[in-house]
Amino acid sequence: MALSGLDIYKLLPKTNCRECGFATCLAFAMQLAKKAVSIDKCPYLSEEAKRILEASSLPPIKSVSIGTGESKLEIGNETVMFRHEEKFRSPCGLGFIIEDNLKDSEILGKLEKINNLKFERVGQELDVNLVAVRQNTQANRFKEAVKLVLGHTGLSLVLISSDLEGLKSALEMSKERMPLIYYNGKDLSQIAPLAKELKLPLVVSNPDLEKIIEITNELSKQGINDLILDAGKKSISRKIWDLTQIRRQALKKSNRSLGFPTLVIIDESDPYEEAIEAATYITKYASIVLMRGIESWQVLSLLTLRQNIYTDPQKPLQIEPKLYPVGQANDKSPLLVTTNFSLTYYTVLGEVEASKVPSYILSVDTEGMSVLTAWAAEKFTPEKISESINKFGIKDAVSHKKLIIPGYVAVMSGDLEEQSGYQVIVGPKEAAGLPSFLKNLG
Ligand code: SF4
Repeated sequence: MALSGLDIYKLLPKTNCRECGFATCLAFAMQLAKKAVSIDKCPYLSEEAKRILEASSLPPIKSVSIGTGESKLEIGNETVMFRHEEKFRSPCGLGFIIEDNLKDSEILGKLEKINNLKFERVGQELDVNLVAVRQNTQANRFKEAVKLVLGHTGLSLVLISSDLEGLKSALEMSKERMPLIYYNGKDLSQIAPLAKELKLPLVVSNPDLEKIIEITNELSKQGINDLILDAGKKSISRKIWDLTQIRRQALKKSNRSLGFPTLVIIDESDPYEEAIEAATYITKYASIVLMRGIESWQVLSLLTLRQNIYTDPQKPLQIEPKLYPVGQANDKSPLLVTTNFSLTYYTVLGEVEASKVPSYILSVDTEGMSVLTAWAAEKFTPEKISESINKFGIKDAVSHKKLIIPGYVAVMSGDLEEQSGYQVIVGPKEAAGLPSFLKNLG
């Protein structure tokens, strides 16, 4: 946990010798708290003080990465229990389990579907992250299944097995792709040295949190710190309890033994239950969710949820403010004005496209606020809209002088006409009304 300036001051020699470049130890402590200087600047720190200060500068939940290149997944490094306190930093990785006892053709079919799970929402690409191969058969078959997966997807890999030999031979083949090792056999110490040697992340799985603490402490002593925690099979409520305890212990109690990302496996056969369970864990507090269902209706809803939760609440999603043509817009096309909040813009865009009336959308810089919020905050005003008309070359794009504004801000029509010199037409309050409005514009 981060220490305050006064906490740090208590650990300093308090001699005010100035060798650190500051007039007093207190001034140095205040700068250390802000992370503006390094502890090396004070040559008189005791070993104990150094240890405490170094530990306090580490993130309370370790950052761990899986995979390489563009598909690399970074998880952990979270700092708050609740999104509104700051933000959630590392979006939960979503992955799919492939059993090695499936036929090759079935595995290939699943991989094709998984690779196509790509969506776009409010201007952002939404992708899945992982493929987990689970061993149910002999080592040779597991190796073959891993080979098929390696050859047919670029997504990051998880190897799940309780068979040491099977796992080792699959690792030999896949180690360049930096897979996550999930050994669910009896003794993790049998695979931990190999994880260390290959610098690969390792899952610590146990239904008992006290046992997890014992294991992570032991592994940390051996210098194995790229760990991911799985609290095992249990009821949903019990699992949420454990995930919350892990997060709370790490963030609020500075419990380093639980300061790692978490993983959940969902083995639910009902696809609706499966999606609900996955949504629950994405919300609280899984860093990775592995499931079997690969239906796009399941995945799109989960990726949308993830996108919403992992958006910085202080910074609404926004698009570049400018003039956007829709379809084959020409100088006679209608000109609609809206804000640069992504959700607003893409909702308007979708409805304008649906109308099949080529148009222009002028997106005004409202710092990412929606129409009514921006209007109330005086970010969507006649002055701002008039400024945008001049700034984004509307006169060059359209030959008419008509502007369509959202129905919710009809009240600004008079002022806007005066300031812009454009005739203001009040559009529908809801974007859903745009297709019929545009078709009947005349
Ligand atoms: Fe205090 Fe250390 Fe700076 Fe000297 S060098 S003033 S002891 S913090």
